[in-house]
Amino acid sequence: PLLLRSFSSISAPTLPSFDYEPKDYKGPLADEVFQKRKKFLGPSLFHYYQKPINIVEGKMQYLFDENGKRYLDAIAGIVTVSCGHCHPEVLNAIVEQSKILQHATTIYLHHAIADFAEALASKMPGNLKVVYFVNSGSEANELAMLMARLYSGNLGMISLRNSYHGGSSGTLGLTALNTWKYSIPEGEIHHAINPDPYRGVFGSDVNSYAQDVQDHIDFGTSGKVAGFIAETIQGAGGAVELAPGYLKLVYDIVRKAGGVCIADEVQTGFGRTGSHYWGFETQGVLPDIVTMAKGIGNGLPLGAVVTTPEIANVLAHKIQFNTFGGNPVCSAGGLAVLKVIDKEKRQAHCADVGSHLIERLKALQQKHDIIGNVRGRGLMVGIEFVTDKKEKTPAKAETAVLFEKMRELGVLVGKGGLHGSVFRIKPPMCFTKDDADFLVDALDYSILKL
Ligand code: PLP
Repeated sequence: PLLLRSFSSISAPTLPSFDYEPKDYKGPLADEVFQKRKKFLGPSLFHYYQKPINIVEGKMQYLFDENGKRYLDAIAGIVTVSCGHCHPEVLNAIVEQSKILQHATTIYLHHAIADFAEALASKMPGNLKVVYFVNSGSEANELAMLMARLYSGNLGMISLRNSYHGGSSGTLGLTALNTWKYSIPEGEIHHAINPDPYRGVFGSDVNSYAQDVQDHIDFGTSGKVAGFIAETIQGAGGAVELAPGYLKLVYDIVRKAGGVCIADEVQTGFGRTGSHYWGFETQGVLPDIVTMAKGIGNGLPLGAVVTTPEIANVLAHKIQFNTFGGNPVCSAGGLAVLKVIDKEKRQAHCADVGSHLIERLKALQQKHDIIGNVRGRGLMVGIEFVTDKKEKTPAKAETAVLFEKMRELGVLVGKGGLHGSVFRIKPPMCFTKDDADFLVDALDYSILKL
């Protein structure tokens, strides 16, 4: 009884103060928006919250619903709002460019596209200097796969289990998470075992995981492959960071088999990992092709493929055309994002706030048996819930309840992982230590109230 009394007397944590008044919202309310969505937007299994939230405004790391309720956005529109909602400098760049020219297509010259390509290339190591603009991560990975196949002259692609590389028919083949898969022809795609230090069959033994890639090549292909693609921290898969040293081994294996190595930086790029600007740098490798989207435009529909002049040359004999790729407004926004990340030292900030968050979550893990694993890097963090710490039994139902409780307290997190038992914490990069503390307190409180 004593224990029970002390639980119930804990008061709910409140959001850190934030000096901003949302506008007085006069639009349709959640129920009406929901009915319209149901009627006109097509069915999908993607029901996130039991009662959908009608988001009407965003400011930096916060979102507001129709009643003016403020939420800490700890998932950033799925890792997309990099600088912050309506960040003033990004917003200004978008508005100013919109007044001058909104669309040009790549058949004309326009400085916004060229300036952005130059700035993006300057962020890339090695000979990764040729940029193709597209509109999304799926398109970026489609184009990367096309380049890999044309350049190598081979068909087979290798991706990792638990990966997400897109929802288009080609990239769905690369994606290896049942939640998104349909039974459609996928071409020659092989899914190797992902080196997951927490759940992986080989623990952190990267040699065994690398051998699995070699086995796929030896037993499932002619001995030649087009390429290999991986996220260094698997995003939709639940913030699973590949065991250190893995990519170096695999890149060697793939290159020996004639393939090119593609880094999917759709979630891990632009300093979010804190320690490095690009996720692949955390593994000390240099890819042949890098794909990016999401955070590149702070929410604008934008993606890019960056590769070497030699690989880019495979597209020189045909027209590689994308109507909206490199749209001037998106390019101006993307350029502003790069500047803001540098000016506001966001990479260092992600390292600092991220390690504070991870430290506090690890302390919370000591307190609650339901937290089976805390992992991640910078502001790309996963919390995996289990019903049995030793057996690592996924706590799927409990995760769903915690997810709703967090929302009530004003924290929006991502839910995911292979078993739906992971919270994904990937907020806008302006997320502060106070926000991190609030998030941890809200999780503590939610677990106590389970
Ligand atoms: N690659 C990764 C790692 C992703 O997380 C996603 C989207 O979640 C994609 C590719 C596909 O991007 P998009 O949804 O912009 O097509």
